[in-house]
Amino acid sequence: MPATPSDFNVEHSYQRLPADLFASCRPTPVAAPQWLAFNQPLAIELGLPEQFWATETGLQLFSGNALPAWCQPMAQAYAGHQFANYVPRLGDGRALLLAEIINSTGQRFDLQLKGAGPTPFSRGGDGRSPLGPVIREYLLSEAMHALGVPTTRALAAVSSGETVYRDDPLPGAILCRVAKSHIRIGTFQYVASLGDQHQLAEFADYVIARHYPHCAAQPQPYLALLDAIIAAQAATVAHWMSLGFIHGVMNTDNMTISGETIDYGPCAFMEAYDEKTVFSAIDRRGRYAYGNQPAIALWNLTRLAETLLSLLHATQPEAIQLATTALENFGLLYRDAYLQRMAAKLGITAPEPDDQQLIDDVLQLMQQDQTDFSQFFRLLSQQDPAAAGELFGDKANWQSWFARWQARVDQQALTSSQTSGQRQLAMQQLNPALIPRNHLVQQAIAQATEHGDLSLFNELKHAWQQPFVSKPEYQAFSQPATAAERVNRTFCGT
Ligand code: AMP
Ligand code: MG
Repeated sequence: MPATPSDFNVEHSYQRLPADLFASCRPTPVAAPQWLAFNQPLAIELGLPEQFWATETGLQLFSGNALPAWCQPMAQAYAGHQFANYVPRLGDGRALLLAEIINSTGQRFDLQLKGAGPTPFSRGGDGRSPLGPVIREYLLSEAMHALGVPTTRALAAVSSGETVYRDDPLPGAILCRVAKSHIRIGTFQYVASLGDQHQLAEFADYVIARHYPHCAAQPQPYLALLDAIIAAQAATVAHWMSLGFIHGVMNTDNMTISGETIDYGPCAFMEAYDEKTVFSAIDRRGRYAYGNQPAIALWNLTRLAETLLSLLHATQPEAIQLATTALENFGLLYRDAYLQRMAAKLGITAPEPDDQQLIDDVLQLMQQDQTDFSQFFRLLSQQDPAAAGELFGDKANWQSWFARWQARVDQQALTSSQTSGQRQLAMQQLNPALIPRNHLVQQAIAQATEHGDLSLFNELKHAWQQPFVSKPEYQAFSQPATAAERVNRTFCGT
């Protein structure tokens, strides 16, 4: 039986790049792999042959115990600024890229195992992952996809039957992650640090061909590439902000060139609205707080632009000028994307500059009254939007804001043919009834880790596939954590 059905299209284009950019490396087999989850809809999207689905052959593949011939595993090299400190050589220390799959519509996807054993980049780490981070990434990345945010995906999760040692002994697990690519800002930093102009150009050409082919025809392809990456990240971060998502560790090695959200470490969704919200236990100064995310994205993109200077212009002052202009555009793109998304959450389809004030004022009111961000927008999307007032203690200020909002959407109804029912439906498509609330994620992790009980994991995985639909059976999942349930700290747990 052929290992690769003829219509299954696999390539290893990254391995045609200079050898400095990766290291071939095989997974280390695990003792007793068992299935945790398999994402069949994603497998169909990828065109992955059925023999590798939730089968014994699939288990061998996704545990790294027996790879089919179409896999050529390797670890990618990258550098990165971690909490603003430059680390010249990070790389995949616990991840292995198996193959690039090209699906029936011609889209290319990386297939990566996370937690499959040490690599030349492990720097003393074990290359493994506990079960908790695998569950978190599976739940969060699939929920983000369902929420419409560009993100890496989770194709499969298996337990290893082995113990990994962190502060405590923990059950081990392996995740199979899918991404448009795993190329990060940190990859550009690494390539640029090698100091070979031809290699840098070759790499940038590869990225253009893979992610932004329209740039090749531009008068200045590398400047167009910088512009495209800036636009992609501005859009993604605006999307995060509109949902209350806090990435938690926006190091330059955790920001993709494609604009996909990657590395679901200490991430969480904000509940009570507060710009300063931080969940990550290691982020003591709040560098990656909710409200800092746009500024950090720009900081990271500035690091990216620095790596491209020599490609932008032969003389440095001119190159810096071009990069600066490109970076200045980030603010405009971000503010516009944010205004569009936040206005749409309020039911405003064609926002005007004044609408920013309406948005800011309700956010300020939410901050003052510690209103649950997601619940507010969902309640405002219901048939009786005034019911959202129950979330505010300051009734006078709420009433005056609500009257302004009502007037704004009434005025819109006059000039468009939209009924209030249509507006509510549109708002419900943007304001989720269900977000991955942190206490639920933590409960699922605790049940799986302590009791081997996957029932809550499975239930949440299912519930979060349709976050915009209110279902009575998931009413409890829509509620913010009670004081007793609240989890204010998350850990990378790597
Ligand atoms: P992260 O914080 O997940 O973005 O990881 C930062 C760096 O640490 C990357 O180079 C990872 O590959 C590496 N790393 C994280 N956990 C491990 C581990 N258990 N073993 C080896 N390397 C690791
Ligand atoms: Mg990372």
